[in-house]
Amino acid sequence: MKNNKYCFILLFLTFIFSCSEKQQKTIKEEKPITILVQPFEDLQSEKVEFVTNELKKVYPNVKILESIDFPQNTYYKDRNRYRADSIIKFLSKNTKEGFVTIGLTSKDISTTKGKIKDFGVMGLGFRPGKACVASSFRLNKQNSNEQFFKIAIHELGHTQGLKHCSQKTCFMRDAEGKNPTDEEIDFCKKCKAVLINKNWKFNSI
Ligand SMILES: [Zn+2]
Ligand SMILES: [Zn+2]
Repeated sequence: MKNNKYCFILLFLTFIFSCSEKQQKTIKEEKPITILVQPFEDLQSEKVEFVTNELKKVYPNVKILESIDFPQNTYYKDRNRYRADSIIKFLSKNTKEGFVTIGLTSKDISTTKGKIKDFGVMGLGFRPGKACVASSFRLNKQNSNEQFFKIAIHELGHTQGLKHCSQKTCFMRDAEGKNPTDEEIDFCKKCKAVLINKNWKFNSI
């Protein structure tokens, strides 16, 4: 009799435990993140709109914020460029839970890479994290809008936890100090699966 009672309590506890686990998952699925596009004042609004519209084709939950100036501590005077690592720290600090902010600029940006103290980059993002930045400065003039979108989606991929990918046509390809964006077509199946798991909606799977 006593044993039965314990057994019942144990079953009951297991039931509560499994229920709460499920509920947490449901809550997570109901609240996909919102991507905030944060343009810096130097950037033409036409470029901001192009990148935003392209992003919306992949992920519909995107909003554009009012343009802002660079915070003073991000300027690197010696090279007349802006520090990408300081920019994403600043953006992250101002980003609430449930949001990811992507900064967009036409200015040259840089970060420390290995032994190189100030290395020019096209973009930088936390992996995973709440902020990233993309710059159009190093892109080809002829199709800079398309390339700019590819840099943006790559950095957003990092914020969602994606690492660099070995597929040459994947948005998550490592630039290796060059600009391979023209060869990139889409996220590969593996990278896409990670994003779908994080509530990204793709028009074609
Ligand atoms: Zn990367
Ligand atoms: Zn990939």
